[in-house]
Order: sequence, then C-alpha cells, then structure tokens
Amino acid sequence: MTATYLGIDLTASAKRPSGVALLSEGLEVLHAGTLRTDADLLTLVAGAQPVVVSIDCPLGLPLGWDCLDLECSCGQCDCPTEDRRRRCEVELAARRIPCYWTTRRSIIREMVYRGMELRYHLEKRRVQVLEVYPYGTKVHLWGRGMPPKTRPEGLAWLRARMAQLLPSLGQRVESLTHDEADALLAAYTAWLHARGRTETLGLKEEGQIVLPLGVPVDRASDHG
Ligand SMILES: [Zn+2]
Repeated sequence: MTATYLGIDLTASAKRPSGVALLSEGLEVLHAGTLRTDADLLTLVAGAQPVVVSIDCPLGLPLGWDCLDLECSCGQCDCPTEDRRRRCEVELAARRIPCYWTTRRSIIREMVYRGMELRYHLEKRRVQVLEVYPYGTKVHLWGRGMPPKTRPEGLAWLRARMAQLLPSLGQRVESLTHDEADALLAAYTAWLHARGRTETLGLKEEGQIVLPLGVPVDRASDHG
C-alpha cells in the first residue's frame, strides 16, 4: 500500500461538517468530501491509514497555558490573566497572513479544543499530525492576488488554481466547495512536507504551523 495524506478542514463541532480530502503519493485525489463527528474522522483514518494527517486548526496553546477558559479552569496555567500569543501566529502576522488568534477570548476556542483532542487520539494511534493553515498555504503558493472568498469570482478563481495544482480532480473541480478545497490544500501541504518542501513556524511546545516553501510573499503582487 502506498502512502496517503489526509487533510481535514476542521469545524468547531459535529453541527457543521468538516472538509476531508485524501491524496495519494502520486497526487491523485482519492477522496474529497465532508464528515461530521470525531468518530467518523477516526474511522476514516483507521480505514485509509494515511502517513500524515494535516489539520486546519490550532493544535496547541500559548506557552504555559493548559486551557483557554476566561477564568482558568485547569489549575495548570501559569499567569492565566496575561495576554499571550503562540509564536507561530505571531510569525504569520509578521508575514501579513492574518489568522484567528488562539487566546482566552478566541471565537474559535471550541474548535481549538476539538483539534487538540483529535490530535491526541491520532498520535495515540501513531499517526503523524501536522497543523496547517490553508489560507497561508494559498498565499505561499499563489501570492496575494486572491479575490475574496465571499465573492462568486473567488470560487471560480480557486477552482482554476486547484485544477492546475491537482489535475486528477478532472470534472469534479467544477463542483468543488471552499471547504473541500481547504481540505485538499491541507493534504497537499502534508504531501509537500514529506518531500522537505515546507517550512515550519513557531515553537514545538505550542504547536507549529507548516507552510509550503512559497513565493516570497513580501515581493508577491498585492491586489488586496
Ligand atoms: Zn488553565
């Protein structure tokens, strides 16, 4: 069996489906779709046995913290009242790649907890887990000329880029959603990582973000 790479565009809970995509060593799209529960995600992993699972979600907390509750609930956080940031997110911001900060006031707190739990279960099964950030992957692959995600032309633009990146998508690219594309980009980043064609931001203890070695983003054209 050849190696496969699973990308997950994780949501906060099973109420909203998460995008999932499986790529082969030859960059064939073996699967692209959505799943809802952690049990379903773990069943997919057990069946597909990917060498790497890459997840679009913070998979760690700022150094010295063990929870993100406004009033520390774990009793393990040192200085829970201090405002802290993960190094990887600070490094993203320095590259003008915005993200949601992992803080005690984070609107993605539920998703962070879910991602960390999933990481725990996967690593217990000896699966390598990477934190990825598909928006950052897009900037590193394609520069800054992206039309906004919310506009119809944004989706057309993304589908055209995805067709170039993964020709094996074929006709399926015409119905590709943003969530599926993000899951595919997560898997693609893992595939690049296995080839040493990525860079890693941040501290191991806080969770690191893996990005493709890309176009030099500061020199890339900036249309918005
Ligand atoms: Zn705590």
